[in-house]
Amino acid sequence: MPSSFDLIVIGSGPGGYVAAIRAAQLGLKTAIVEKYKTLGGVCLNVGCIPSKALLNSSHHFAFAKHGAEEHGVVIEGKVSLNLPAMLRRKEKTVQQLTGGVAFLMRKNKVTVFQGHGTVPEAGRVQVRKAEGAEPEELEARHIVLATGSVPVALPFAQPDGQVVVTSTEALSFDAVPPRMVVIGAGAIGLELGSVWARLGTSVDVVEFLPRIAAGFDPDISASLQRSLEKEGLRFHVDTKVTEVTVADKVATVRAAAKDGKEFTWEAERVLMAVGRKPSLGGAAPDSLGLAVDEKGRIKVDHHFKTNVPGIYAIGDVIHGPMLAHKAEEDGVACVELIAGKAGHVNYDLVPNIIYTHPEAAGVGLGEEGAKAQNLAVKVGKFPFKANGRALASDSADGFVKIIADAKTDKMLGAQIVSPAASELIAECVSVMEFGGSAEDLGRTCHGHPTLSEAVKEAALAVDGRAIHA
Ligand code: FAD
Ligand code: NAD
Repeated sequence: MPSSFDLIVIGSGPGGYVAAIRAAQLGLKTAIVEKYKTLGGVCLNVGCIPSKALLNSSHHFAFAKHGAEEHGVVIEGKVSLNLPAMLRRKEKTVQQLTGGVAFLMRKNKVTVFQGHGTVPEAGRVQVRKAEGAEPEELEARHIVLATGSVPVALPFAQPDGQVVVTSTEALSFDAVPPRMVVIGAGAIGLELGSVWARLGTSVDVVEFLPRIAAGFDPDISASLQRSLEKEGLRFHVDTKVTEVTVADKVATVRAAAKDGKEFTWEAERVLMAVGRKPSLGGAAPDSLGLAVDEKGRIKVDHHFKTNVPGIYAIGDVIHGPMLAHKAEEDGVACVELIAGKAGHVNYDLVPNIIYTHPEAAGVGLGEEGAKAQNLAVKVGKFPFKANGRALASDSADGFVKIIADAKTDKMLGAQIVSPAASELIAECVSVMEFGGSAEDLGRTCHGHPTLSEAVKEAALAVDGRAIHA
């Protein structure tokens, strides 16, 4: 007899494991299937967490080398890098968190099946521990696909795992590469480009679009670029990579800029950071008849239902930004709807963050996006160099920008460049979720001295009444 469940989730990334916990909380007999040995998906194993661990460690290294002296901190002798120790710390953090997810599964009585899951038809899941092995048969009234995404590559430069690599390998290089070309100036390219530049790699970043971090307004991208150039990254925007060849463990990368200029770089590593694509991970055979859109994303309605009754999908494998927190919200809403509750995700207010130094964070509409929609907006800006706490703590790069409706003052968006942007943006998300105005934010008392005062000041600046600028 197959084991029977109310709900089976396939994939244990932030979408899948959060859906499983919430389903168990709601009283559903729940199982989760994961093909990797550890739980947590891309985010915990080879994404958000290891990249942030390396960003933190490499920032300390750069500070010890270049920043400590200004603070009167004298480091006797040479500051040097112990890369294996840095990588061990990263792995320890990953193990702590993936182990934490396993603990949460036990705590919530979610049954974990380790193996490759497939859905031959609605109501049935097969789990294979190894290729060709006899499958274990499971049954469930509801099946949630949370199979995530995989990197995309340029057709003429397929990753070989050695010289031409994806983010996964770039989280574990066994030595600091002397030279690296990063293709793509999105979140992955900027974060991992920063890590290796801080550790001593000569990094060139090639971006097809006219600016880096293209999801942000041009002034935000420009401010971020200036700061990252100070860390040693070199940027080539409006530039298209045309050829990548590898010989004797060295890549030759050719690129052409829009203005006709041509580039050739040699590098020990080429990081492919040109985006990710949804992946069904072999979970849904063609015979299942699952409908996907032109980008390969599983089509779902606003209840996360696919076209096959009893099968749902969440996270990177459906539409919307490919972000861990979005996947988590999908997971919660999906199972709440299955349990007859009122789940909902507001895709307009999913914060977008790049964890460089400084960080860039945004939510809602940018100034450019609002104008593209012909909305009349007012914009308030406040620079961190006018904020006491920022000056006292090496955080004076960057600024806050608040975008509000010109007539009603309702907050439409916020964008921030600051070492603490990822934390500061949360306040803007909350105000916007409650339909607040720039004035609401500007009249809210903020602690002093804090970086968050710059958010308040930018909100006041919408009405031309910032105090300290
Ligand atoms: P995933 O995390 O991709 O998990 C899918 C899981 O499904 C995987 O474990 C996979 O093994 C499993 N699976 C697939 N098919 C099967 C099958 N047939 N049977 C069993 N198991 C299967 N996002 C952020 O919000 N913040 C960040 O800082 C951030 N940093 C990132 C850094 C990097 C380097 C990368 C690559 C990504 C980063 N992301 C970040 C994106 C984030 O990792 C994803 O948006 C998130 O992991 C998506 O979650 P998910 O649950 O949809 O899928
Ligand atoms: P991305 O889509 O964020 O950026 C890819 C960049 O590559 C774009 O700017 C694009 O214009 C550029 N590009 C595409 N083709 C190119 C070419 N031929 N030559 C030069 N440039 C080219 O993708 P990513 O950085 O690979 O990240 C993948 C996904 O993972 C994204 O959805 C991202 O949100 C997510 N992620 C998020 C975080 C975070 O939240 N901090 C961190 C890492 C990854």
